[in-house]
Amino acid sequence: MTDFVLPLSVPPSLAVAGSKARFPVRRIFCVGRNYAAHARELGNDERDPPFFFTKPADAVVDSGATIPYPPLTQNLHHEIELVVAIGKGGFRIPRTEALDHVWGYGVGIDLTRRDLQDVAKKAARPWDWSKAFDRSAPCGALMPVEKAGHPGKGRIRLAVNGEVRQDGDLAEMIWPVADIVAICSEAMELQPGDLIFTGTPAGVGALQPGDRASGEVEGIGTVELTIGQPQ
Ligand code: MN
Repeated sequence: MTDFVLPLSVPPSLAVAGSKARFPVRRIFCVGRNYAAHARELGNDERDPPFFFTKPADAVVDSGATIPYPPLTQNLHHEIELVVAIGKGGFRIPRTEALDHVWGYGVGIDLTRRDLQDVAKKAARPWDWSKAFDRSAPCGALMPVEKAGHPGKGRIRLAVNGEVRQDGDLAEMIWPVADIVAICSEAMELQPGDLIFTGTPAGVGALQPGDRASGEVEGIGTVELTIGQPQ
């Protein structure tokens, strides 16, 4: 037995639909943009190849949480996303085999400090402070592939206080899940427990303390959160 100088932390994890067992989260990769309309609203060329950023694994939060309004921002944004949960690792995974590496899917919200991201973009600085903060990756219970298969299409939407803000379809993804898994695995060896947030449709916008956000991906599940008072 190895001795450690600090108590070992319990691995971050997410709920699994229809099970008491939880999915241990290893790393979180996120696609920068993956829906044509959202790429246009941010002024980008939709044909660009996908790029990735990361969040720490312990940024995950189960659905139903109250998330304190985070520090350093005046413009906290919601981005509803299909989340891919990797069950089988691999390096340079062929596109034709990519879906075999997926354990399941979830509905996540890529919380973003948009004002910090705008500053980072202008200054050509890293995105971490805008994307990878505490509790920045709420995600609903994961749906195993064995129960729901692989969603190639289906409504993806997010409402704030009951008003629909984002309303798209998975079929609008510029790079489908198999491509995202394959391309991500060219950069690093994917491992069981990795999550991939696959980008958001148009309609991103600000959240305020007291707001209740509820997201849904047809056939996969839901995610709910409340924004609390600032920390
Ligand atoms: Mn995003």
